Amino acid sequence: MENNIKIEIDNKLCNVSVVRVAITSLISQKDVPLDEITEIKTAISEAVTNCIEHAYEEENQKVVISAKLSTIDDMDFLLINIEDFGIGIEDVDLATTPGYTTKPELEHAGMGFTIMETFMDEITIDSKMGSGTKIKLMKKLRTRKVSNI
Ligand code: ADP
Ligand code: MG
Repeated sequence: MENNIKIEIDNKLCNVSVVRVAITSLISQKDVPLDEITEIKTAISEAVTNCIEHAYEEENQKVVISAKLSTIDDMDFLLINIEDFGIGIEDVDLATTPGYTTKPELEHAGMGFTIMETFMDEITIDSKMGSGTKIKLMKKLRTRKVSNI
């Protein structure tokens, strides 16, 4: 079983909630515990917010989010790609260091990647200077199984 969605948004912070709602709706097709939904929403919000806040200098640029819900051998997995076509990340190791930020004036304090790593099982960062950044997030869902007893 597999279910895919794809959303393309403008780089506006008000669109972060659009993505949160769509992802929540997708994973709600499975009986996922509330705390896990909250964790996933938080991780995705950080990834999308990064594309909006860091990738572009101009408005009306694109951020593409795709998500796949799949079942393999009775286990449920969520895979999410968050992609921008902006400036790229020069040094990924440095960018993922807890507390590192190039925009200290913003409310976040360089903890976005740390939050993504904490709440998801896997994170892959693929970034090229001048052509953009693709973040892949994976989580094995703690889906509640209905007991037959
Ligand atoms: P914060 O967003 O608070 O700065 P993060 O841990 O989320 O902290 O990101 C760390 C740094 O990585 C950012 O300050 C920025 O320099 C860089 N970065 C993250 N995402 C992107 C992106 N999509 N495009 C360009 N740079 C990015
Ligand atoms: Mg951030």
